[in-house]
Amino acid sequence: MNIEEAVKAYQTYACLDCGVCTGSCPISRVMPSFSPRIIVEKALLELGDELLQDRELWSCLTCSRCFERCPTKINFPEFMRVLREQATQRGIAPVLSHHGMLQSVMEFQAMGIRQKRTDWAREAGSIAETGDTFFFVGCMPYFDVIFRDMGVDSLTTSRNVIKILNAGGITPVVSNEECCCGHDMLWNGRYDMFKKLAEKNMALIRQSGARRVVFSCPEGYTTFKHQIPAAWDAWLTSTTAPGRSSRVFRTAASWRWSATARTPSAAGPAAGPTAPRAPSRYRWNVSRRPRPRAPTPW
Ligand code: SF4
Ligand code: SF4
Repeated sequence: MNIEEAVKAYQTYACLDCGVCTGSCPISRVMPSFSPRIIVEKALLELGDELLQDRELWSCLTCSRCFERCPTKINFPEFMRVLREQATQRGIAPVLSHHGMLQSVMEFQAMGIRQKRTDWAREAGSIAETGDTFFFVGCMPYFDVIFRDMGVDSLTTSRNVIKILNAGGITPVVSNEECCCGHDMLWNGRYDMFKKLAEKNMALIRQSGARRVVFSCPEGYTTFKHQIPAAWDAWLTSTTAPGRSSRVFRTAASWRWSATARTPSAAGPAAGPTAPRAPSRYRWNVSRRPRPRAPTPW
């Protein structure tokens, strides 16, 4: 999607120039030169090249506060994501935090590097290679190493999740092959890499035989719950979608449907987004409450 298409998709031409977004933005508060209103205005004035070169493109936290308060409901974070994707395609890279260490890890994972990331889990309790419940640990084992000099102890939470599950009689699957959820790649404009990571994780969870996925990381949860199914929708409508990817993303779509399911069904996952949204045997373990999804027509 180019900028012109993004302007149409997110209806930024409906901007009232009211400045509520800038007034609500936590970044604008500390960095007055950053203004979502001005960014929208520049896009409407067809100053695309200037916009893509602007370093402030990478300052947005994608927190959605502006979107929640915008009187015309302009989805600024998604609009920003498209701008970043455009910038990345033109070779305009952001300055990555922590020297890009985490992004490097994600790239290695997408390439299929062999990982050794479950020793801590075996010490915490009992885990399995296959089973009903998959514990998606996320990047915690890497945080534990990368941020150790800052006193970060990210694995304590993960260990406690295993202890709680074990106490409830559940032996979760914790895998050496798990990859990052791809959140940062998506919001850094690396949609290709995001898809690769999503495919790998989907395939891994399917192979484990899991019927539910437990998250302790909100970023991973929201990526699996919202962004991966949205990517699946876009992938399905793409004329270049290969069959293998379709099968993998279909799993994500079926999980999304099952977010409100109350009873398991023996029918198994639905066959695609056009299938009836009947209760599925796939269940999320975090919340059954349906939440409104932001429009993401990409
Ligand atoms: S809050 Fe919405 S309508 Fe107001 S300036 Fe920002 S984008 Fe435009
Ligand atoms: S999504 Fe970005 S522009 Fe909007 S309020 Fe959050 S940081 Fe500011």
